[in-house]
Amino acid sequence: SGKRKIYMEGYELYPESEEIKERLENTANGLLNLGKNHHSKGNFNSAINYYNDILTMPEISNNITFLVKTYLDLAQENSLFNTEKEILELGKNEYTASGKRKIYIVGYDLYPESQEIKERLEYTAKGLLNLGKNHHLKGNFNSAINYYNDILTMPGISNHIKNEAFTLLNFAKDNKPYKSLLGKTIMLDPGHGGIDPGAVNNYLGLYEKNFNNGLTIRIANKLRELGANVIFTREPGEDKYIGLHDRTVIVNKRNPDLFLSIHHDSSTNKSTTGMSVHYSTYRPGLDTVGTYVEYNGRVYPFIREIKEWSDPVRKTTDPGIVILYNGQEKIVNIKDTMVYDDKSPTNVAVKSEKFANYLFKSLLEADYKNGYNYIKDHNLHVTRWTNVPSALIEAGYISNNNEALRVINPNVQDKIAQKVVEATKEYFK
Ligand SMILES: [Zn+2]
Repeated sequence: SGKRKIYMEGYELYPESEEIKERLENTANGLLNLGKNHHSKGNFNSAINYYNDILTMPEISNNITFLVKTYLDLAQENSLFNTEKEILELGKNEYTASGKRKIYIVGYDLYPESQEIKERLEYTAKGLLNLGKNHHLKGNFNSAINYYNDILTMPGISNHIKNEAFTLLNFAKDNKPYKSLLGKTIMLDPGHGGIDPGAVNNYLGLYEKNFNNGLTIRIANKLRELGANVIFTREPGEDKYIGLHDRTVIVNKRNPDLFLSIHHDSSTNKSTTGMSVHYSTYRPGLDTVGTYVEYNGRVYPFIREIKEWSDPVRKTTDPGIVILYNGQEKIVNIKDTMVYDDKSPTNVAVKSEKFANYLFKSLLEADYKNGYNYIKDHNLHVTRWTNVPSALIEAGYISNNNEALRVINPNVQDKIAQKVVEATKEYFK
């Protein structure tokens, strides 16, 4: 209380001082804790005095003011704090997202360890974000700004939501129109590059890496038109070799909202055409609970993955998968197995599967209709070791001369890119 008096006088003299403002805020926080302490013991009058003291202080953040007012109301009714259960119940019975926001902010202040309150905060933030976007879309910039600001002052929510709200807020402040992928960071991965050409069509003298680069550039341009922040594992204009594992390290470090690896396929059967979409429910970088292994037509418990293992049969250093085989550990080559976690997949795996399905459905409309098209959950390196929602596409067989010439045609490539972008929009809806 002494500090309060000093800093309030200080503020009168030096209203521009950031340091004094900071001290005021810290003091308000201290007074709030004292008030809550008295409140919790049933000393309602002392609590009311503390709360009122805070409300007469200048430059206090909305978050504290809002909490103080809520607690003041309770103290004036001689009510103690709500229990966690009561807060969850209150939130459930409140119909507006803004009302829920207030309830769960108080809940988080009282019970910061509660997972359920955190989940409700996150869910409420998503609701507010959608409301903000709706207003933004209609050109109601001020309402949109209010919603975005409300999200930014919420405690306990994920950085993904905060970053998106922050990006949208800056657009709304500049009176810039809403775009469907604003605030989304999407990482594209043009396959191969440098000394690694990928698949090669010797007859036509074509390299897969160039197909991948061209398609990546078209997808990137279209995503940017929709407001997305597009980043790459390697610039599609830069002919550089990066190993598969190094690519996943780049992805996990940048932590994009979505990752897409772009490839073209090849087959010894020159008549094969078509596209495919790949994803992994097995995400060893996240968790392996519920993971199981299919090997030789049977299912075995998964134990772990060994990154480099000398396979005596295949004579390679592919990763090994350790399975529980007749009560004992046995190492098998990852290429001889399929590892899945479709029983208790991580959230990232569920999202990857969703994105992959949208991609597959959308790409079917890019004239692959008579081809060998498929979607597959399996263990490609860049889909399993990335810790964000991810998929990989093979956008046609360059070993088939007709398909190679078709998918490298600018109009067709543009259409394929368009279908990828439509699937991406659908995914983020
Ligand atoms: Zn490839």
